[in-house]
Amino acid sequence: MTEDEKFMKAALVQAKKAAAIDEVPIGCVIVYEGKIIARGYNKRNKEKNTLSHAEMNAIRKASKYLGDWRLEGCTMYITLEPCPMCAGAIVQARVDRVVIGSMNAKAGCAGSVLNVLQEKRFNHQVEMTKDVLHDECSSMLSGFFRELRERRKKEKEKCI
Ligand SMILES: [Zn+2]
Repeated sequence: MTEDEKFMKAALVQAKKAAAIDEVPIGCVIVYEGKIIARGYNKRNKEKNTLSHAEMNAIRKASKYLGDWRLEGCTMYITLEPCPMCAGAIVQARVDRVVIGSMNAKAGCAGSVLNVLQEKRFNHQVEMTKDVLHDECSSMLSGFFRELRERRKKEKEKCI
């Protein structure tokens, strides 16, 4: 297993924590000097907070750990391509590198809809690696939505 795969596995563990509380399973870890310094997962429903995406939660923790809003020298591992908000925060935090599991054609801002991470007109560009443990990352999401649909269908049938 490569170093990137090892840390993506850790991000997948975070995504599973989100799934366990019925949140869309997206997970993230931030690595500094070869060590995980922050973890995060999606808690949007639990916290009733738009800002509570995996990446935002991890960025908050990493800043606390480093005592700096700048996350220079950090690599972020995310199971899904970041949304506009998180991609913006990644650029603002000056994260060096982002490793992505699966892409998000509908909302991704690391190349799918926009490429906020590598926009040359901004003062910081993020190095990027895609498709690390792609199958595991994408099947975690598709499995979650399939179960959700089945559960909703069953609930509907109960009502009739
Ligand atoms: Zn986001």
